[in-house]
Amino acid sequence: MDKLRYSRVLIKLSGEALAGDQHFGIEPHAISKFCREIADVSATGLQVALVIGGGNIFRGMSASAKGMDRSSADYMGMLATVMNAMAVQDALEKIGCDTRVMSAIPMQAVAEPYIRRRAVRHLEKGRVVICAAGTGNPFFTTDTAAALRAMELKAEAIIKATKVDGVYDKDPVKYPDAVKYDTVSYIEALEKRLGVMDSTAISLAMDNNLPIIVFNLFEEGNIERVVKGEKLGTIVQGE
Ligand code: UDP
Repeated sequence: MDKLRYSRVLIKLSGEALAGDQHFGIEPHAISKFCREIADVSATGLQVALVIGGGNIFRGMSASAKGMDRSSADYMGMLATVMNAMAVQDALEKIGCDTRVMSAIPMQAVAEPYIRRRAVRHLEKGRVVICAAGTGNPFFTTDTAAALRAMELKAEAIIKATKVDGVYDKDPVKYPDAVKYDTVSYIEALEKRLGVMDSTAISLAMDNNLPIIVFNLFEEGNIERVVKGEKLGTIVQGE
């Protein structure tokens, strides 16, 4: 593999990445595909932290719209991310990639508690750190958890894996004339509500000048291309 552009990155995987074609739950075949790529980039010496979403299992906001208490629903959403984290851990370890799941909600029997200094140590030892349970707080999302963890772990970029190949001025599924941005500023992403990440996550990244790279996870080899610094997808950064 050519030289890497980064030495430490945070990859945000939405729950939908784990669901495959079923759009719900966990599809081991879908997971093993991107885990192979993550294991490969980790083996080249890139330090990788992952933040995993939970939308393939449970979303607090949808449940609260149907009458559930929002905080309880959000805690359930965070628990869903722990299941996803364990599934990704299983897939990575099966192919010989050393990992640790670290949960923002202490859950000793299944994961280490998230402790920043320990997470850094794992990264330095070449282990993929899988951050589970979001921020540990209701009313947040795993996108915000990704921005938070990226900053505290001093990642050089947030790599946001999605099912589209970047950020568009409007929904490319609905509008065939939608135009893709190669780069876009944090402010523009916020003002135009471009759907990169939620506004809390973008604001956090903006305040700390942390680039967000949005790219299509489902195209083979893309993770490697991104970490080598190939121009791919959309970079959200300062003006
Ligand atoms: N969640 C939360 N606090 C956090 C992160 C997540 O309450 O810090 C809950 C929230 O209910 C959310 C669910 O966990 O809907 C799953 O996370 P998210 O929707 O971000 O997953 P993704 O869309 O990435 O699959």
